[in-house]
Amino acid sequence: MNGTGHDVISTCKDLTENADAYLQGELGWFGRAQVRLHLWMCSHCRRYMDQLAATIAALQAMPAAEGPGLAEHVRDELMTSFRSLRTPAIDPDGPPDSEPS
Ligand SMILES: [Zn+2]
Repeated sequence: MNGTGHDVISTCKDLTENADAYLQGELGWFGRAQVRLHLWMCSHCRRYMDQLAATIAALQAMPAAEGPGLAEHVRDELMTSFRSLRTPAIDPDGPPDSEPS
């Protein structure tokens, strides 16, 4: 995300990078329109978005008893692992499969 608000979301990789912003209402109309268009065309990303939405919903449903700081931390960690696991991207420049730890 580079924050211009007018990023072009055309590939699966772009979509996964913007998926959480989309789900949390952080994208502008232009981004949202592109995400919707991509989801309409791409079943991989529809599935990804479903799972991400479920993850976010679960996180938001967590009781805040342990403090917002922790929730934020947990969320970030989950999002990071979720991304690395679930990226459906057709991504020729993707990270190597065998990364130690
Ligand atoms: Zn896609």
